[in-house]
Amino acid sequence: MTNEDISKVKELLDSPKKVVIVPHKGPDGDAMGSTLALKLLLEGQHHEVQLISPNDYPDFLKWMPYQEEVIIYEKEKEKSDQYIKAADVIFTLDFNHLSRAGDMKPVLEEAEADFIMIDHHQQPDDYAVVTYSDVSMCSTAQMVYHFIENIGLKDSLNAQIATCLYTGIMTDTGSFRYRSTTSLTHRVIAELIELGADNTNIHENVYDTNSYGRLQLLGLALQNLKVVPELRTAYIVLTQEELDKNNFKKGDTEGFVNYGLSLEGTVFAAIFIENKAEKIVKISFRSKGTFSVNDFARLHFQGGGHINAAGGKSDLSLEETIEKFISILPDYKTSLAK
Ligand code: 5GP
Ligand code: MN
Repeated sequence: MTNEDISKVKELLDSPKKVVIVPHKGPDGDAMGSTLALKLLLEGQHHEVQLISPNDYPDFLKWMPYQEEVIIYEKEKEKSDQYIKAADVIFTLDFNHLSRAGDMKPVLEEAEADFIMIDHHQQPDDYAVVTYSDVSMCSTAQMVYHFIENIGLKDSLNAQIATCLYTGIMTDTGSFRYRSTTSLTHRVIAELIELGADNTNIHENVYDTNSYGRLQLLGLALQNLKVVPELRTAYIVLTQEELDKNNFKKGDTEGFVNYGLSLEGTVFAAIFIENKAEKIVKISFRSKGTFSVNDFARLHFQGGGHINAAGGKSDLSLEETIEKFISILPDYKTSLAK
């Protein structure tokens, strides 16, 4: 953060304020971890804080400290709109464009509050008075740690805040393995453990609480894996019918896309998940090395993200979406073929 931004934040928060915090639609561990941590910190500073998530989040995050205080916009629109209209300061975390807030976009666009963005995605939009954006950061949770440090509130960290931040960093780094995991990340993690984040418990809560349906769905996803060996690409397709048969719940397909990438020789992986209720196909992309799935998702599938992890969607049918994907792939022959 620049000194100017630090001063602006301190000024905005120098007296008790009405604060709203918003993660991206389809919040993951980093989105929930970073927003909950910030909520706890600011409440400790006597601000009135409301965390509003555009939609619901997966069960494997429903053990997190104070998550029961989160309002789900889709379920409580009127109440949420009131909070947003009355807010002095609105933090948007772990996303770079208001369209990522789903149905909350219009009311956020009209809000009179000062916006503060904390985010690590590529190409941040320009709607905030303070934009703390760093695409080299492994997670927004690590950025929230630095944010707290920068505004001089490190002494206010506690075990619950540390637990939320640990969860965000752990989930967005694939348990500390992706390239964005640095020695500084490990130093921050060490401090969070010292503050009382129970690392073994957090790993178990997130990764060892699978439902039977999710494991069955994973089996199906692996059977559905298709490989395009000459373009070092692997992809998975899951139909609405397959999801329904296995009692699909939000978050059940989290991480499936990585299995495609784990296949020897693969540099590009995708998963296509049919969502008949929203009339879209939700897509996740992953890559190894220099192939930018952020660019790929932006250009072809209304999405974006990071170089090696991005998402997007398609309004075409599932079959047409796959056809489109297959037809585009050869354009990337120079980057994908060996
Ligand atoms: P995932 O595939 O795990 O949902 O998301 C991978 C990364 O891409 C995350 O950083 C996520 O925030 C971002 N992402 C996922 N879906 C979208 C999307 O539809 N649009 C944009 N711009 N980013 C996305
Ligand atoms: Mn993130």
